[in-house]
Amino acid sequence: AYNFNAGPAALPLEVLQQAQEQFVDYKGIGMSIMEISHRSKEYEQVNDETQQLMAELLGLPEGYKVLFLQGGASTQFAMIPMNFAAGGRSGSYVMTGSWSEKAYQEAQLMGEASIAASTDKEKPLRMPAPSEIQVPADAAYVHLTSNETIAGTQFAEFPDTGEVPLIGDMSSDILSREFDASKFAMIYAGAQKNLGPSGVTVVILREDFAKQAAKGIPTMLRYETYLKNNSLYNTPPVYSVYMVNLVLKWIKEKGGLAAMERSNREKTGLIYSAIDNSGGFYEGLAARDSRSIMNLTFKLSNEELEKAFVAEAKANGFVGLPGHRSVGHLRASTYNAVPYESCKALAEFMDEFRRKNG
Ligand code: PLP
Repeated sequence: AYNFNAGPAALPLEVLQQAQEQFVDYKGIGMSIMEISHRSKEYEQVNDETQQLMAELLGLPEGYKVLFLQGGASTQFAMIPMNFAAGGRSGSYVMTGSWSEKAYQEAQLMGEASIAASTDKEKPLRMPAPSEIQVPADAAYVHLTSNETIAGTQFAEFPDTGEVPLIGDMSSDILSREFDASKFAMIYAGAQKNLGPSGVTVVILREDFAKQAAKGIPTMLRYETYLKNNSLYNTPPVYSVYMVNLVLKWIKEKGGLAAMERSNREKTGLIYSAIDNSGGFYEGLAARDSRSIMNLTFKLSNEELEKAFVAEAKANGFVGLPGHRSVGHLRASTYNAVPYESCKALAEFMDEFRRKNG
């Protein structure tokens, strides 16, 4: 299948094959990695190596820790205000679409939250420029969504928030391109798009920021618990972390973030060209300077034509092209693991469909 699913999404074929080889007998121990203790030296090695690989790929400076949590990125929406919006201070949110909205709503459940910028009601969809983001000087943190998975918009440039810690939900574009991770006090991502299967949430936390967290929070919802116990306080999602380990090695072998970005720009260039050169037959939903290299959203002139597009695409082996149920239209998700050949095939299919129906 040409897999354009938005999440859970495509994994590199080589990684799936490697996992298959080790599925029953992990490195000659006569058992699967799923069947052994998370306190074993085999799993501790996976845990430590995965943290190191993530730090290396992101080019993290000293003072950051990589943590493995559960509950998905959605649990982070609540944990962030629980831990950091304390002592009368609140978080400030950059509102760019459905996911930032969900993060903001959870913060409001915990108390107050302010809005640092909002472009979520605009058409075409877009991300704010750094100069549009107004950060209250006393904000506990600023939260942004680096890539809005449903809208198909992505920040081209991150703001400088000075003394106010910046938190990024990178669930749908982590490790897809080069960026300066040291601008962020915290980055988090559910694994199931660019990192591996669902079940683990990666949290990257600057230790001095982590120290500001509130006390008196339930143990499993406190970042301190994961920091103090090397993410081994309770039973971690062993198999998911193991798969992330394989995916990170795959990214490193391919040449790291620079290579991922080059490949993602090439891949999405093919599809965006098919949209832009269609004489208006296809229309992109995101403003050009906010276009995502992970989720490409577009539409046709009417719903009937879109249905025909999806049906014919499906018959030709293309999976995952309907837009999110909340917005409709069309979306192709082209995460790291989606091969160039799939994107080329989709661009060709789009040209062909236009010739037949335009
Ligand atoms: N944030 C973004 C940008 C997402 O795309 C998603 C899921 O698609 C989430 C958060 C929620 O992630 P999870 O399902 O891991 O809770």
